[in-house]
Formats: sequence, structure tokens, C-alpha cells
Amino acid sequence: MFIGHYAVGFLLKKKFEEIPLWMLFIAVQLVDVLAFTLVLLRFERMSYNPTSNPFLRTSIEYVPYSHSLLSNLIIAFVIFLIFWKSKKSYGIALSMGVLSHWFVDVIAHTPDLPLVWNGFKIGFGLWNFPWPAFFIEVGCFIGSGYYLYKNSKNIRRPIALIVIAVILYTSVMFAPEKEVPVGVASIVSLSLYVIFAVLAWWSEGKKGLRNL
Ligand SMILES: [Zn+2]
Repeated sequence: MFIGHYAVGFLLKKKFEEIPLWMLFIAVQLVDVLAFTLVLLRFERMSYNPTSNPFLRTSIEYVPYSHSLLSNLIIAFVIFLIFWKSKKSYGIALSMGVLSHWFVDVIAHTPDLPLVWNGFKIGFGLWNFPWPAFFIEVGCFIGSGYYLYKNSKNIRRPIALIVIAVILYTSVMFAPEKEVPVGVASIVSLSLYVIFAVLAWWSEGKKGLRNL
């Protein structure tokens, strides 16, 4: 999943208004940031899979550090500990965001997500059905955005954030099929995570949280 993860970011923002949206956006994608960084460093492995289904073009072969359930529990716990002392709500919300990633992924992925290290792989396979997968993901993103902002006064920037995100996501997913080296795909993905975090920061404006 891609923007489906940000739906969780919106829901967490509704509950934890004091936390900047950009931090929640980074939290929900932290393990993908880790995965693509580790792919670039050759600690983890993905490869190009030629298929007409855009959701299955990246074969996930070896992602024990970033995408096993056990490592996600550990990463979330570390994030919790880092923030817990200074800001309790940050510790709770950001670790929930980090951990949500795996559970959202497991709905979409084919059985390539390990439970422990590189073993016991599961995935419910929503991605086998590209159109339902696309509409469910975009629907969750827009729906949770609506839920977050429905009573807000200043919604120009949030609307722009949602529209830009959907356009970016759609154009990346439905770009014409061609083989892209995994290194390039990783850099594109990492750049998108940065763009989304910057958009989230921008969406809250100068007044930041008081925009809501
Ligand atoms: Zn992931």
C-alpha cells in the first residue's frame, strides 16, 4: 500500500491533534523508508516482476529487517521509548503509526510478509485485484481525510494535499509498464515519502495545529 498508510496518519491526527501531521506521515511509512534504504544498501532485496498488474511489479524477496512482524514490533517499541519520556502522546501515536504499516501491508500484499525474520510469510492478496485495491486504498485515504477535516475552517491546503496525493499516486501506479531498476524505484519511492511529509507540513500552514 502507499497512500492507504496515510489514511492511518489522518486518523491518528484526529485523535492526537497536538502532533504535527508530517511526523505522523513519516511514522506510517517509516518501515518502507527503512526497506528502500536497505535495498539501496543491499541488505534487503526486491526485484522487478513483469506483469500487467501494477501492484505486483515489485517482487519482495528478502525484507527481514524492515517488514517482518517481529522487527516491526521492535521498531515501534523503540520509537515509543524514544518519545515516551519527553512527550507521552507522541510515543503512543508515533509507535501506533509505525506498527500500523505492517497490518495495512498484510491486507494488500501477496504472501511475502514474514512474521519472524524471513520466515512464515503471509499476505491476504488484495493486490491480486488491482481495481478494487486501487479504489479501496484511495477511498480510505479520502474518507479519513474527510473525517479529519470535516469541521475545520481552513481547508484549502488540506484539500490540496489530498488532491495532489491522489494525483501523484495514480500517476505512479498507472505509469506505462517498463522495467525500472530496483535502485531507481527505491529512490523514487523515498522521494515520494519526502514529498508527502513536506506536503503534510505545508498543509498545516504557519498556524500549524490551530488550523484544525
Ligand atoms: Zn511496506
